[in-house]
Amino acid sequence: MFDLTGMNALVTGASGGIGSEIARALAGQGARLALSGSNGAKLRAFREELNAGGGADHVEITCDLSATQQVEELVPAALDTFGSLDILVNNAGITRDNLAMRMKDEDWDAVIRINLEAAFRLMRAAARPMMKARFGRIVTITSVVGATGNPGQMNYAAAKAGLTGMTKSLAQELASRGVTANCVAPGFIRTAMTDALPDAQKDALNSRIPAGRMGESEEVGAAVAFLASREAAYITGQTLHVNGGMAMLG
Ligand code: NAP
Repeated sequence: MFDLTGMNALVTGASGGIGSEIARALAGQGARLALSGSNGAKLRAFREELNAGGGADHVEITCDLSATQQVEELVPAALDTFGSLDILVNNAGITRDNLAMRMKDEDWDAVIRINLEAAFRLMRAAARPMMKARFGRIVTITSVVGATGNPGQMNYAAAKAGLTGMTKSLAQELASRGVTANCVAPGFIRTAMTDALPDAQKDALNSRIPAGRMGESEEVGAAVAFLASREAAYITGQTLHVNGGMAMLG
C-alpha cells in the first residue's frame, strides 16, 4: 500500500525540518524527487544524503519563492528533468510574527508572497500537465492556526487559511481528471526551535495537546505520503489535521 514507485515529486522547502521528512517519506515509498529550496548548499547536502540511501536518483532545483520569475520556472524545470510530474508538495513557509498593531507591511507582504502566492503559481503550473496525464496529487502544508487563528500571526494565519480555500477551489476544478488537491495541517511539531524551549514552557504547550506531546516531522511526512498515494484517489479538497487532538476540526 501507498507505493509511489515510478512517481515524480516536487517538494518545496525540502531541506527544512518538516520538508526533509516529507522528502524521506516520499522517497521511502519509491518516488523520485526534485528537492527545492532557496539555499543551494543546504539542498545539495540533503540530496546527497538522500541519494546515498539508494533508490531513485533525486535532483535539486534551487528556487527563491519570493522571486516571481524563479517560481514560474520551477515546475517547468521539474518537468524538463522528469518528463512528467505526479506529485507537488507545497511545503515551504516562513513566519514574520508580530501583533497586528506592530505588523509591518513588508512582514505581511513576505508571508503572503512566499506562503500563499508562490503556492498558487506552482499549483497553476502543475495543473495542466497533471490534467493531461489524468493523474496528479497536490498536497499543501497549512497549519492549525489557519483554522483557529493565533495572536501575532495575522499574516501567517491569513496565508494558511487562504491555502485551504485555494485547495478546495482547485480540487473542484481538477477532480474529474484524476487530480486531487489536499492540505496537511500540522499542529505543534517538535523542531530545533521547540527543543530549545525551557521545560516549563514545553510542559505548558504539551498540556494543551490531548496526545500530551508535540508531533514529529515524520508524522507529517506520513500524512503527505498517504495523500500522495494512488489509494487516496477519492480524497480531495480536504485537510488532514496532524495535531495530536489539539484542535478537533470538522
Ligand atoms: P523550516 O525548517 O524553517 O523550513 C522552511 C523551508 O522553507 C526551508 O526548507 C526553506 O528553504 C524554505 N523556504 C523559506 N523561505 C524560502 C524562499 N524564499 N524560497 C524557497 N524556499 C524557502 O520550517 P518547518 O517547520 O519545516 O515548516 C515547513 C512547513 O510546515 C511550513 O509551511 C510551515 O508553515 C508548516 N508548519 C510548521 C509547523 C511547525 O511546528 N514547525 C507547524 C505548522 C505548520 P531554504 O532554507 O533553502 O530557503
